[in-house]
Amino acid sequence: EKFKNMNLKEELLRGIFAYGFEKPSAIQQRAIKPIMKGRDVIAQAQSGTGKTATFSISILQAVDLTMRETQVLCLSPTRELAVQIQKVILALGDFMNVQCHACIGGTNLGEDIRKLDYGQHVVSGTPGRVYDMIRRRALRTRAVKMLVLDEADEMLNKGFKEQIYDVYRFLPPSTQVVLISATLPHEILEITSKFMTDPIRILV
Ligand code: AMP
Repeated sequence: EKFKNMNLKEELLRGIFAYGFEKPSAIQQRAIKPIMKGRDVIAQAQSGTGKTATFSISILQAVDLTMRETQVLCLSPTRELAVQIQKVILALGDFMNVQCHACIGGTNLGEDIRKLDYGQHVVSGTPGRVYDMIRRRALRTRAVKMLVLDEADEMLNKGFKEQIYDVYRFLPPSTQVVLISATLPHEILEITSKFMTDPIRILV
């Protein structure tokens, strides 16, 4: 399978090649297509497999750039990772006019609110700050159609379980969920059974 046979948007394909990727990694081969079809996906994968690009490509394929509302939320365990994901999305989306904001703790609240108010197609953040922005009605969730939970086991280890559930309660019931986790302990399976419908499970 090649990137150019995956039915990706032309400008996204350009971004992928400009970024230096030649062919999809194993997880990309197996996960992008079902995500594009709207399926909920559980990927048991570690760093180094190409997991970030898997969901970044899927996110960029899913966003409708004609409406500047938040359509994808990506939650991750650390500020650094949330910023890293934002950078990958902006780099792969270099030929698209995509707005992607990193919504993380330790930054200026007013600035966060201003950027969200401007309109962000994608928000990559840590659960605490993202939930804070939702509660303040700075982050509007009515147009959200995809939730990505990256390093879900790490988020639980960091005590973010409650905030993840808090965020989820604000999302439209039909929201597609993509969960990436190195391990699948009981608390992760609890999330998958509460948030996901007939998920596909991929082990890489
Ligand atoms: P990750 O698993 O997201 O931590 O990614 C590991 C590394 O693989 C990163 O440096 C990516 O830029 C790189 N990578 C991801 N997908 C591909 C690909 N299809 N071709 C070459 N490198 C890739």
